[in-house]
Amino acid sequence: GRDYSNVTATNDSNDSDRLLGGLLATGFDEATCLSRYQSSLYRKPSPYKPSPYLLSKLRSYETLHKRCGPGTEPYKKALTQLDQDHIDNNGECKYVVWVSFSGLGNRILSLASVFLYALLTDRVLLVDRGKDMEDLFCEPFPDMSWLLPLDFPLTSQFDGLNQDSSRCYGHMLKNHVVDNDKTLSHLYLHLVHDYGDHDKMFFCQGDQTFIGKVPWLVVKTDNYFVPSLWLIPGFDEELDKLFPQKETVFHHLGRYLFHPTNQVWGLVTRYYEAYLSNADEKIGIQVRVFDVGAGPFQHVMDQISSCTRKEKLLPEVDTVIERSRRVTIPKKHKAVLVTSLNSGYSENLKSMYWEYPTLTGEIIGVHQPSQEGYQQTEKKMHNGKALAEMYLLSMTDSLVTSAWSTFGYVAQGLGGLKPWILYKPENRTAPDPACGRAMSMEPCFHAPPFYDCKAKTGVDTGKLVPHVRHCEDMSWGLKLV
Ligand code: GDP
Repeated sequence: GRDYSNVTATNDSNDSDRLLGGLLATGFDEATCLSRYQSSLYRKPSPYKPSPYLLSKLRSYETLHKRCGPGTEPYKKALTQLDQDHIDNNGECKYVVWVSFSGLGNRILSLASVFLYALLTDRVLLVDRGKDMEDLFCEPFPDMSWLLPLDFPLTSQFDGLNQDSSRCYGHMLKNHVVDNDKTLSHLYLHLVHDYGDHDKMFFCQGDQTFIGKVPWLVVKTDNYFVPSLWLIPGFDEELDKLFPQKETVFHHLGRYLFHPTNQVWGLVTRYYEAYLSNADEKIGIQVRVFDVGAGPFQHVMDQISSCTRKEKLLPEVDTVIERSRRVTIPKKHKAVLVTSLNSGYSENLKSMYWEYPTLTGEIIGVHQPSQEGYQQTEKKMHNGKALAEMYLLSMTDSLVTSAWSTFGYVAQGLGGLKPWILYKPENRTAPDPACGRAMSMEPCFHAPPFYDCKAKTGVDTGKLVPHVRHCEDMSWGLKLV
């Protein structure tokens, strides 16, 4: 096993690993957030290196964030703008407020998207802490909090913000009340999956010019909208420079932003060291079933077996006779990490590998950290466990995920893994083939716009450029490859 105690060892190459190739800033107090500098000890170094341009952009963002963050003079000044409908002169700093909304996987992906939007538009990102953001994640930026202060004047309105809110950009467009000669003090952007055509105008360059002047943007979204940012002229060149390897957006931004708090990190590291660290190979299987009714379902079990057998991720068992087996020492030990709300799938695999020998002689250990039964988004430790499990999945060597699940997208992105996706079953039947390899490790944007802003007509946005394509698991979704 590895020595996890020697965390502070420094030499140049270690330091580069520790800081994820320069992604992470130095100078944080390590003890307050152990995961920040320890995560590299639990993973192989990423084969994807962040571009020097991304690194310099992050460092200048950190400077901006520190200059404009909560409590600073520019922040106080910007707050006074909220008292007016329109502003007469530009302040020093502009902000985008991310509103806490939806399941944890969705939140992680949408927050990364809003952060990228902040980078592209020189805004300061502030995070509505919702019920548990503070309990789950460390501060990602040095010397200045990313949390929206509790006394922020608009916070009490967040829950009620929707498509029909008077300051909703789409609503204003629809009702022809957007006045290009005046600059609003704040605007609400509704980018939730149920949004309408007017809300989707957010993804047009012309609208970005108007939106760009507004000092306070409040965004509610449950989507990974990064692929569509790439289709906005004016953003595309900058994005090419930031991410020459286009499929690395979430991989880098996710590793930069999301550091589990010490409590969650304890869940990750204790589990890893107890059940995974000694295995020769680690396989993650993320089972997310969107069917109604209590599982486990036979068709999902069949699908898992069929996929892992066909793709040679797990060995077959010898059910015919218990042969007098040749003893091969040392035997290869594979650890299978199953995550699911239901315990049935891992119990089934576990029994199979206990009751029968594998044809390859490999020893298979099956482990499932939690079985929460159903989604309980409002419960604290529930989301802590969910985050720990996403993280643990990201530490495996090979990953199987479930179609449509943002939980799986987070794991694959953090891990830098191209997963095998279990395609979505229809009518309670396992699809054939059961799974397929993802084109890239990027998450899928589930609700993209299909609009050509210039021609003002509908268009298949998955066919415009080679690096923005339709997803493997959702035909209308978009992903970067
Ligand atoms: P998605 O619905 O699969 O896209 O993922 P989300 O993370 O947005 O929402 C699902 C929520 O259900 C998670 O945040 C968890 O609260 C819970 N959940 C789903 N699958 C699991 C699992 O395997 N383990 C745990 N601990 N929670 C899960």
